[in-house]
Amino acid sequence: MGTLFKLIADSALIAKDPDDYTECQVCGGAVPVYGAKGQLANPPDPQDPDGDIEVYAACAPCILSGRVDQLDQSIRATIRGACSNPGSARSAEAALNRTPMGVPLFMQGRDWPVCCDAPTEFLGSPPSFDALLAFTESSREWSHGLGAPSTDFAQTGPPEGLRDVSFFECTSCRLRYFIFQPT
Ligand SMILES: [Zn+2]
Ligand SMILES: [Zn+2]
Repeated sequence: MGTLFKLIADSALIAKDPDDYTECQVCGGAVPVYGAKGQLANPPDPQDPDGDIEVYAACAPCILSGRVDQLDQSIRATIRGACSNPGSARSAEAALNRTPMGVPLFMQGRDWPVCCDAPTEFLGSPPSFDALLAFTESSREWSHGLGAPSTDFAQTGPPEGLRDVSFFECTSCRLRYFIFQPT
């Protein structure tokens, strides 16, 4: 389990480049900041409800406080579909909302494997094609849910980029998952 963010392994966590993002867009606090894509929950000016702030980067305390509403309808539907009851879906949504966005890359939209009624932990992308083959052969493919396995890299060869593939592990039962989103 990640030290800073439970759902992202420390080795897979990537902070925003401090040359591009010099402060937290929510609190103005110091770097490092992480990808946090969404609307600022509870906009600071209640007189101006249209003044929602679009956030791209926030510091760890702001992300962990859930101040940025990061979950779109599609990912909420994915989580609800994978959880066994509304209570666990709510806590799974809350846990994922308190996790930086931007790692994994997810060029085709947000997705996240859910197992044992909770979001799994993101472990990173494969460092090599051999590592990719080893991991995908011992894990299940996820695409907004568990479907029939469709990607066999032993047949197709390497993806265009290794970051197109993301590895996850359930922190309860240790089952492993991968998501393949070609760029
Ligand atoms: Zn902040
Ligand atoms: Zn599990």
